[in-house]
Amino acid sequence: MIKVSLTCLLLLPFTLLATDPWIKEKRTGYTLAYTEADKTEKDVYAAMVDNGIKTVQTFFGGKFKTEFEVWIYPNRLAIEAQWQKDWNLPDFKSECWMVASGVATKLDLIAPKAWDKESCEHKYADKPKVQQLITHELVHVFHGQQNASPDFSDVVGIDWLVEGLATYAAGQLDESRLAELHKAIGANATPATLDKFWTGKFKYGLSGSVAWFIDKRYGRARLKQLLAYNKLDDVLQALNTTESDLLRDWKKFVLSN
Ligand SMILES: [Zn+2]
Repeated sequence: MIKVSLTCLLLLPFTLLATDPWIKEKRTGYTLAYTEADKTEKDVYAAMVDNGIKTVQTFFGGKFKTEFEVWIYPNRLAIEAQWQKDWNLPDFKSECWMVASGVATKLDLIAPKAWDKESCEHKYADKPKVQQLITHELVHVFHGQQNASPDFSDVVGIDWLVEGLATYAAGQLDESRLAELHKAIGANATPATLDKFWTGKFKYGLSGSVAWFIDKRYGRARLKQLLAYNKLDDVLQALNTTESDLLRDWKKFVLSN
């Protein structure tokens, strides 16, 4: 009897905590999930998602294959708990610049209004950059829906393509990143292999410019064809090139543009 009462007492707070705090709203092409904390800003976020969807569909000349979910987390702790679960990494601690992720089925996002407090790199006041970041994640969603590995858990050597394409299509390959890239190429400071492109402080410029190069050299249709592949060898084969030739031609292209 005593045991039963104690159990009830102990369980009660957890039961209350486990009450679903999520509010779900069906929108065109996706479901928006948010908590009470983001009720006032959710329409602003939804408008940015709508804009991003348009940009992505225009870029690829096609629609998202399936509907997906957009989850707005009120803080880092909440998104981190989800990432730990999704990636099966119970001890995962996110870097302070990480505010979002995208796979075929969903986009996870720390509420942008919380970025000033919860992130070391992103500011809510910089709306064009917030939009670009959301569009970037939507490119991942679109990409995942076409890819052999929809959550990108089984990809080999294509981080540069996944991130480069998102950077390029979302308009994050800007003048300052290109200027940095020119400097890095001039100083012979660019990596010798593609697997190092999405690393270090030039990663956006490096990876984004390879996507730009492929787009201009091979065309949008071929770039779109690459969405299906989860292995570097298949990507290189589709481009009928080798890694060293691709890098040589990329460098020439960047320097002449
Ligand atoms: Zn990304």
